[in-house]
Amino acid sequence: MTRMMSSGEMESFTLTYDEFVPAQEALREALTSTGNGYFSTRGAVEWQDSDEVHYAGTYAHGCYNRETTILGGRPVQNEDLVNLPNWLVLKLRIEGEEAIQLSNVELLDYRHSYDIRDALVSRELRFRDRAGRVTALRSRRFVSMAHVHQAAIEWTLVAENWSGSVDVVSAIDARVTNANVARYRQLEGRHLDPVSPRTFGPEVIALRARTRQSRVYVAEAARTRVFEGEHPVGAWRSLYQMEDYIQQVLTFEAVQGSPIRIEKMVAFYTSHDRAISEPLGAAGKSVSRYPDFEQALDAHRSAWEELWRACDFHVPAEPRVQLLLRLHASHILQVCSRHSADLDAGVPARGLNGEAYRGHIFWDELYVYPFLNFRLPEITRELLMYRYRRLGEARAAAAEAGYKGAMFPWQSGSDGQEETQIVHLNPLSGRWDPDHSHNQRHVNAAIFYNVWQYYQATGDIDFMREHGAEMMLEIARFWASITDHNLERDRYEIHGVMGPDEFHEKYPDADEGGLRNNAYTNLMVAWIAQIAPQVLDLLPESRRQAMRARLGLTDEELDTWREMSHKMFVPFLEDGIVSQFEGYEQLEELDWDAYRERYRNIQRLDRILKAEGDDPDRFKLTKQADAVLLFFLFSDQELRRLFERLGYEYGPDTARRTIDYYDHRTSHGSTLSFIAHAGVLAAIDPESSWERFLVALESDVGDVQGGTTKEGIHMGVMAGTLDLVQRSYAGASVRDGVLYFEPRLPDGLDGLEFSMQFRGMPLRVALKGAELAVSADPEGHSRPVRVGLDGHIGELCPGDHWTVTIPRDSPVSSLLAQRSQMR
Ligand code: BGC
Repeated sequence: MTRMMSSGEMESFTLTYDEFVPAQEALREALTSTGNGYFSTRGAVEWQDSDEVHYAGTYAHGCYNRETTILGGRPVQNEDLVNLPNWLVLKLRIEGEEAIQLSNVELLDYRHSYDIRDALVSRELRFRDRAGRVTALRSRRFVSMAHVHQAAIEWTLVAENWSGSVDVVSAIDARVTNANVARYRQLEGRHLDPVSPRTFGPEVIALRARTRQSRVYVAEAARTRVFEGEHPVGAWRSLYQMEDYIQQVLTFEAVQGSPIRIEKMVAFYTSHDRAISEPLGAAGKSVSRYPDFEQALDAHRSAWEELWRACDFHVPAEPRVQLLLRLHASHILQVCSRHSADLDAGVPARGLNGEAYRGHIFWDELYVYPFLNFRLPEITRELLMYRYRRLGEARAAAAEAGYKGAMFPWQSGSDGQEETQIVHLNPLSGRWDPDHSHNQRHVNAAIFYNVWQYYQATGDIDFMREHGAEMMLEIARFWASITDHNLERDRYEIHGVMGPDEFHEKYPDADEGGLRNNAYTNLMVAWIAQIAPQVLDLLPESRRQAMRARLGLTDEELDTWREMSHKMFVPFLEDGIVSQFEGYEQLEELDWDAYRERYRNIQRLDRILKAEGDDPDRFKLTKQADAVLLFFLFSDQELRRLFERLGYEYGPDTARRTIDYYDHRTSHGSTLSFIAHAGVLAAIDPESSWERFLVALESDVGDVQGGTTKEGIHMGVMAGTLDLVQRSYAGASVRDGVLYFEPRLPDGLDGLEFSMQFRGMPLRVALKGAELAVSADPEGHSRPVRVGLDGHIGELCPGDHWTVTIPRDSPVSSLLAQRSQMR
């Protein structure tokens, strides 16, 4: 068992907190959220109202609402993922006294735990109330992975030294607002209008509310019962209802030493659901049919067992790494599961665990899909459909900006319009600063890359034919139209954009946002320009012609793509180092040591500098991997080809020098940065790579940014740690239809085993010492697949095993040799 003072204690599959710490509670709520890919609820206690310490948020994919705030006389619109009615409410009153709260009792024992395997959150406490009565209470809760609309709470109550009358208040509360993020509190947080409460027979209370502008109806129904052992206790029930709140009070006698169980089974529906007439009736009907807690839990557990068979990573050498990888897998699956399929769901950057970034969808899916592609690709496919359905909006955005094709927004919500704010509150200075981050057009490169990678992992030509190709071609088109041909250089250039490094929004002293020739963007575009014609070639002739006719895609456009793939401009610094953007060399060096001394944490140097009245645009500093990301997304071989095709030199040292240069100038103000840096260092500096990997692993559970995780988990980083193991340490990548491995296992990962799915074939991958073993599931029913290491390629049919020893003279081994020479 590893002890972690502030970040919870991990034991086998469990994250446990043994003390109630008010200042940590919001973080723990986010980390112990329970969800099923349809809706999710923070791990808040049932008996506390939301206040500075507790925040009971419930969120569902696609339930957005747009409101206007008048800010200094200026209307500011924001679309938020709405905090939906709170179904958790359960309160305990003993002998008619005030309801028990953590603040009005003496806590004798306390344990808040999250069972990672079953996504089950529990609290076990014993307390002495003001009258000296000692009571034990165990609460368990889950949102069912087996039955998408179902959630359940069970309380077990033991009156240790008393007998007497007990009231349990069970409620559904729609009087909630969006108030999770302190810096948004100046903005409108009311998103729900009440509609009506209702009962269904004596046991079921229900309530319907509606989002104010988007008019999504949300209904929740709860059936609360009391049991002694298996036997229902005939509690006396009373009802109170208002238009936005409904409660039932169950009164019964507690007998000293006899455990009593209270079950609150909940049904959750929205008007986005299929196969319903309307959500309130559906919720009332369903909840009345639900089995008891234990049976529902069994079904939920077996659904998770199936997921773990596909998604677990076995890391025997490092228990802590093992646990955190599992924690991350469980959270990814709670936000994006098979249940997300019919929901038109995207990947909200902060999960369904809090309100940071208003539940918006950025480019973070770039870090999430690789984990899903090789395990549950049907989920990626559905998430990609979120983009496809918004292709119309992206086309309109491109046209409005004077471009062709489709320009997806930097931040996306309900309908795919640009949701990025134009002003942004700096919590350090309290000022609203202009926000140019919508210029991060590279999100379009990420979407293109994601579709291609999904296709590489699955070979899903149907998706390509029906949806993927169209998105990719329209994105390629957008890039061709935002690109200018600089005749003097005879190179194609992109101006007015931002790279992933959000610290540089513009040139110092410029009024306009955007930079010239961000290297990451330009190289991605060179690659896109090369791949896009191949995408067209994948389609059957008739479909290709029909697609070209429909899109009006001309031969001239294809010629331009071809030319771009040879002539995109890439800026360089001295010594062949890739320049983050043109003019980067003219920026000033920052005195990093001075800032490190002055501020404890300098990850958000942008805020620090702005609060000092300075301007991050002036300095050579980078928020997160920008140029460096290229070396993470593409293999050395691919990059060499890309550079050479462009006529640039890709020396044996280009990667190392570029990575090293930015490594010294990056503050890692986004934790995504640790993923990319850990990945690129895997082959260059394994120790340093491992250190970054551990930082990324700990970043949410330890809240390394000091207060961001309570506003939602970081989906990109959580999934990124899993991808790192697969992509950078096991070295898995697809080339020419072969799943290659290039293992660079740190010692801590020796004995690594995990499941993958490649082109429909379930595989088990094991790495121990210098041996790689890949086995194809005997029950697999796909066509044979090819796997490779170095020059060896094996073909696997269901039931086949392939074992290979990493040869001494392989590039992997020579790399190791080079590394030891460098030391
Ligand atoms: C990062 C972006 C990311 C966003 C949402 C920002 O801090 O810089 O790259 O997309 O957070 O996670």
